[in-house]
Amino acid sequence: MIIKKIGKLSDGFYAVGSPTTPVYLLDGPLPVIFDGGFTAFAHRYEEGIKEILGDREPAYLFLTHSHFDHIGAVSHLKTIWPKLQIGGSKKCHEILLKKSAVQLIKDLCFESTKNFKEMGVSSLNEKPFEPFDLDILIKPDQKIALSANHSLTALNTPGHTWDFVSYWIPEQKILVASEAVAVYEDDESIQSEFLVDVDAYLKSLEKLESLGATVLCPGHFAVFTNKDAIDHIRNSVKVTHDYLTMTQRFIVQEKSDINRVVSRVKAVEWDNRPWPKQPESAYILNTRQRVKTIWERMKKHGVSK
Ligand SMILES: [Zn+2]
Repeated sequence: MIIKKIGKLSDGFYAVGSPTTPVYLLDGPLPVIFDGGFTAFAHRYEEGIKEILGDREPAYLFLTHSHFDHIGAVSHLKTIWPKLQIGGSKKCHEILLKKSAVQLIKDLCFESTKNFKEMGVSSLNEKPFEPFDLDILIKPDQKIALSANHSLTALNTPGHTWDFVSYWIPEQKILVASEAVAVYEDDESIQSEFLVDVDAYLKSLEKLESLGATVLCPGHFAVFTNKDAIDHIRNSVKVTHDYLTMTQRFIVQEKSDINRVVSRVKAVEWDNRPWPKQPESAYILNTRQRVKTIWERMKKHGVSK
């Protein structure tokens, strides 16, 4: 099944806030929130979590990576629940300490809130992004016990970013992969999400496919269950290879003029895609990084077929 709305996904497990960028909630004696979404949706996440937990408090908020659309509401949630322990990788922690990174996150949060406002989205939080620090540094492939019958494995899955962690709940075969898998866009196209290393991304996908997840939670728009979960990981591999082939061709045709390659990729992928979609500046930032990653790879290994 492909689930495009928020609500219950399996026993004690929920998508909360907005299907565009949900946060996920695993209920139990120590409830866990996964990711911190958009700044603009902070109130929706808060209300959604309160609807499920009532007077109980979430214990942890684990981050997959430090991109603006996955950490935007963390400070708000920490204000509501001051005992909430925020966890992420060491690399994520290092990024959150960088002034330039925080400024970029602030700018992208501002732009996305503006876009949502122009689209007429209601009950937005219009406050700016507030920086925060991590309470827990997660080690690669660390296991975290949540209760007698619940545990969590943090999987080191680089490729989208270097700070990336996916979360695996073996007892329920739930995999919170966010952008370690491709994004299934609102128009049902599939966007490969490697940014920093295409080979690491493919290797991470292989690791995730081997788990046999029955609930697969990407970063945006849709959740996949059962056969669709396996298919989506396989499709993520396919679109990554397709992207690589297309971009290599553009790089050769445009004689390594990165700006021209970026606008050709954008014309194929982004220009005609309907809203809601990634803000233009974030899309260009990511596409430039993907193109550069492929160009560097070509200089090292030549064109792969
Ligand atoms: Zn991301």
